[in-house]
Amino acid sequence: MAATAPTYCDACGVEKAGKQCSRCHQARYCSAACQKRHWHASHKNDCATWVAIERIFAADMSARPRVPPDVHCYLCLESGNDLVHCGCRCRGSAGYAHVGCVLEMLSSLGDDESLEEYAKVYDACPTCGGHFTGEMQSQIIVAWWRRNQKPKSKFRYSATIDVTAFLSYRKADPRVVDGIFRRLLDEATREFGPVAFLTLTTLMHLGEHRVQHLGDVANGLECLSRAVAGLRLYSPSSTLADALVMRGRVLCKLGIHDEAVPEAREAWKIAVAAGGEDSDLSFSVFAHFVEIARRSSNRKAYEEIEAVAVDVYTRARRFLGHDNPVVFHMRRALGELRSKFRRSS
Ligand SMILES: [Zn+2]
Ligand SMILES: [Zn+2]
Ligand SMILES: [Zn+2]
Ligand SMILES: [Zn+2]
Repeated sequence: MAATAPTYCDACGVEKAGKQCSRCHQARYCSAACQKRHWHASHKNDCATWVAIERIFAADMSARPRVPPDVHCYLCLESGNDLVHCGCRCRGSAGYAHVGCVLEMLSSLGDDESLEEYAKVYDACPTCGGHFTGEMQSQIIVAWWRRNQKPKSKFRYSATIDVTAFLSYRKADPRVVDGIFRRLLDEATREFGPVAFLTLTTLMHLGEHRVQHLGDVANGLECLSRAVAGLRLYSPSSTLADALVMRGRVLCKLGIHDEAVPEAREAWKIAVAAGGEDSDLSFSVFAHFVEIARRSSNRKAYEEIEAVAVDVYTRARRFLGHDNPVVFHMRRALGELRSKFRRSS
């Protein structure tokens, strides 16, 4: 990571910043005055985020598998022990790159690139089309965040939500992550208003985090329900699909499957409209729809799924690969759904 860390001052932007924050070792400064100013302006909020990120990076480094001798970086074509597997679907000697090479390619993007564009074009393997996961994905999300820490970056806030959601997903200290989410939610409510899209997105991630990592189902459900209600005020988005799926999983945990069925169906329709039939989102939301229908007593949902099941499953297997977890989950849930309704008819 040393080769890719920028050396400009985080407060004034001057190059050759020799000092760094002693807590997180990430923020860089040219002088003590700049460090002090930056701490009060924003770093006192971001420092804990960096510390949590550092821990995840360290864990990734120690879990890094040995690099086989015959592999090379798909960008610079050089080999060596500092190569990282991109976590895509490539096997054997394919799918390796230097973190620095991938980040350098990303840094050539214009400033106005939205995360969606960024992810679509650059966060996937050019050979197999699979998304980067694991260490490579972590490094990219964090680089995106760092890039948008500049003052006046219009993506600053959404990049911060993304990096916090990433911390939650990677199981950073849940109390610390909860604190970061709450601070973000306060900031968004103050800056954009309580029903702004970004505020509702934060609320959605906070709800998911509370259910998944703090075990606070009641509070998490309340956050998710408020997020869903608010996001409905906007035209259907993949964020609404995500929120519906998250809420559906909680309803499922609570045994309220029948209420979750129409929302799961809605989420699937939105996912297909947003990303097309053959997208990671559509397939994972369909798998969720099948799972919810399987647990409910809703025969109509069963018939609806039955009519498209073979087609969706075949395409998912072709698109994601036979051993993909979503495909596996879909296959099992479809089988159980069928036998349940065969038994009951
Ligand atoms: Zn400075
Ligand atoms: Zn710091
Ligand atoms: Zn390289
Ligand atoms: Zn690949």
